[in-house]
Amino acid sequence: MKYDIDLTWPRPYRMALCLSFDIDAETLWLTRNPVNEHHPVHLSRGRYSVKQGVPRILRMLEEEQVKATFFTTAYTAEIHPDVIRCIAANGHEISYHGYLHEVYDTYEKENALMEKVEGIFQNLTGTRPFGQRSPDGYIYDFHVRLWRDRGYLYSSNWRQTDQPFLHELDGRPVPIVELPKDNITDDTSYDMYTIQHPEHYYLKTGREMVRIWEEELDGQLEAGGFLNFVMHPQFIGRPGYVRALRGFIRYAKDHGVWVARDIDVARHLLAQNGFPEFASPAGNGNR
Ligand SMILES: [Zn+2]
Repeated sequence: MKYDIDLTWPRPYRMALCLSFDIDAETLWLTRNPVNEHHPVHLSRGRYSVKQGVPRILRMLEEEQVKATFFTTAYTAEIHPDVIRCIAANGHEISYHGYLHEVYDTYEKENALMEKVEGIFQNLTGTRPFGQRSPDGYIYDFHVRLWRDRGYLYSSNWRQTDQPFLHELDGRPVPIVELPKDNITDDTSYDMYTIQHPEHYYLKTGREMVRIWEEELDGQLEAGGFLNFVMHPQFIGRPGYVRALRGFIRYAKDHGVWVARDIDVARHLLAQNGFPEFASPAGNGNR
């Protein structure tokens, strides 16, 4: 891993922040407990994500004039294509999160899964994903090589540092930026409550959640650093939490923070760390 990369941000920004969402929708319930296939109420919890959460979040992002990244299960895209087209049409990024929120333990099976998922998004939005967040965080030894082979430019999985770094293969850096995440910036640490697997019993107010995020942002501002998020529209999409999130976004903008999609941050860091060929093309969309 190449940790000591140049983290100079575009002027006049002091740090970078990625508003990343994970659209698991129904797959959050289907993959963790097959019984839920016959439990319409639990599936409806996932459906809240696309019916209300995402549209409410998109309206707020539009009003705040910021762009975000949506790690989306491709099954969700197939059964709710209009929502996914709307996300892409608004200039946000669609990124990889499995088909049914699954990960395979061999290169060949995972390669076939990624090919299938990329094709679904290509057909739906006109472009393929360039970043990967592994469902439930499972990563195997072959993954970095697979991403390199498939042309991925970033991953958002590792946690050993809170700063971006470059992945390596055979002892040499490859053009794949790690954009680390942590539970501190995962909304389900604060807003998810269910007595059924996956059990979560922690409820905080939106104000409490955002206060923790603002404190972390203050620290990263001193470090000149980076902050990435893991937000689930089926939970944070409720009106009170979206209101709190809007307040946090305004706080970030008021403090000189570059609010950008994961792909924009990845391309910026690649360009100034030995891979200028991956700099953002003009009017880049998802590319
Ligand atoms: Zn997920």
